[in-house]
Amino acid sequence: MSGIYIHIPFCQSFCIYCDFYSVTECSKRELYIDALEREIVRRKGDIKGVPRTIYIGGGTPSLLSPAQLERVKSLLDEHFDLSSIEEFTIEVNPDDITPEYAAVLKGLGVNRVSMGVQSFDDGNLKWMRRRHTSDQASLAYRYLREAGFDNISMDLIFGYKGYDISDEEAFAIWESDVRAMVDLHPEHISAYQMSVEPGSMLALSGKYVEPSQEFCERCYDLLVSLLESAGYLQYEISNFSLPGYFSKHNSSYWDRVPYLGLGAAAHSFDGEGRSWNPDDLGKYISGASKGWGEEYSEILSEEEMLEEKVMLGLRKRSGVSLDEAEYDQLSRNILRLEKQGLILFDPSTRTITIPRSRLFISDSIIAELFV
Ligand code: SF4
Repeated sequence: MSGIYIHIPFCQSFCIYCDFYSVTECSKRELYIDALEREIVRRKGDIKGVPRTIYIGGGTPSLLSPAQLERVKSLLDEHFDLSSIEEFTIEVNPDDITPEYAAVLKGLGVNRVSMGVQSFDDGNLKWMRRRHTSDQASLAYRYLREAGFDNISMDLIFGYKGYDISDEEAFAIWESDVRAMVDLHPEHISAYQMSVEPGSMLALSGKYVEPSQEFCERCYDLLVSLLESAGYLQYEISNFSLPGYFSKHNSSYWDRVPYLGLGAAAHSFDGEGRSWNPDDLGKYISGASKGWGEEYSEILSEEEMLEEKVMLGLRKRSGVSLDEAEYDQLSRNILRLEKQGLILFDPSTRTITIPRSRLFISDSIIAELFV
């Protein structure tokens, strides 16, 4: 089984923190879908097995018109066996969702919608340069429900101070963000810590001062405890769901299941190596039918595969299970970190997990496994 990812690299404007590949030249959407068709025709044989998930991400896929979305879906119908699709997700921005648009998504067979909300505080939304307000996010959620969606994911961002307020005021806003989310009660919630990504407006401004790690950790702890008490299961460092609503597509990334990535800047994994498409609209469009050459792919060495398996697997609360040879390579560090209380290790299944109380520092724990 495998997955299909399609990247739609258009945004109406850029959010302050974002470094995903996107452009504001929305007039190129038709040309882009033409190129997508050429890439699909060229690469459809690269998919490993029958796809189980489809994920249309961005950018802002909800900037595609109903006719453009229908065209993308019919390309998928025409070139892939979609008889085993269990999960079909699309990312949307709240201000694009009308009752009519929600009905179009439903009619296309989308069964999971992921909506970037980020905050319910209008001051923070404005600072982030999001295009929607808090009320628009709630309204979009209602429209999606009324269209019959019973699997909605919503994103939040924590660990920042958007305007000049004290830590306590920022923490209070974060608490009300999480409580507002819990009140809506979507099936799935993702929450990411804001980071200053190179190339983002935050980085380019050179003025942004990141809050302390203590503040961010407090925000994270509050998130986990409020969501857990509302019945959400934390199944990954940044992802929470009601029982039975784990994201199948994203889980397959952490489990290193092969996927085919289509569109500008999309990445693919075939089980042994990775390839990626140019993060440049012109280059993508001109090379879609013939490819972009060997510099856009890599075969992973055994060492890199192990590193990737552990790095991705330890993001999950269920952790990562090693075979005997993998364990032998890491045993010294596993025993050391276990002694320090930074990981848990079950020798009967050779499974490593990061305890709940240490999840916030998981990146540094994972790095320690490979020193
Ligand atoms: S966060 Fe989403 S909407 Fe904002 S610039 Fe990035 S891709 Fe576009």
